[in-house]
Amino acid sequence: MADPLPDPALLVLIGASGSGKTTWARAHYREVEIVGSDALRAVVGSGENDLDATRDAFDLLDRIVEARLRRGLTVVVDTLGTDRARRRRWRETAEAAGLPAVAVLFDTPAALCRSRNRERARPVPAAVLAAQLRGLRETVAELDDEPWARVESVAPPAEPATPPADPTA
Ligand code: ATP
Repeated sequence: MADPLPDPALLVLIGASGSGKTTWARAHYREVEIVGSDALRAVVGSGENDLDATRDAFDLLDRIVEARLRRGLTVVVDTLGTDRARRRRWRETAEAAGLPAVAVLFDTPAALCRSRNRERARPVPAAVLAAQLRGLRETVAELDDEPWARVESVAPPAEPATPPADPTA
């Protein structure tokens, strides 16, 4: 990342399952600054994958985002980020609070998302991940028309370079 991200700010993470959003957020922000739909499903429902708890989880998430921004506090929104109406609402809340809104796009290749997903304790079904990856392509196109203070891409760490062939071998 060329320049440091503004702080305080609203950061909206955008990426498929396994793209590394939560890992990145935890590496760069304090636990209380991160609000995630999976974590809140576990709070108001039976676990992170309790889809029946999605609506309650997002209601709570919106309230936390609003309360923190109103106090001028940084908030990192850790969801798929592919819902345009939600992105607009969070961005407008930041704007009303006078804080910059930053979209953080996880540019992780689909194959890497799939292989990380397969290795997880509770992988999302392959068809669900495929739908997320399609939704993400649409979102990337939409971002160009949205008035973010900044759109930042996070690329996965480069693979270690293949050593040159040993000419003596
Ligand atoms: P979800 O939306 O499903 O919560 P996510 O985008 O938040 O997914 P993470 O939970 O951060 O993704 O990461 C998914 C898996 O990929 C984890 O097992 C994590 O350890 C691994 N991972 C994430 N980022 C990296 C990275 N930079 N290098 C290596 N492994 C990573």
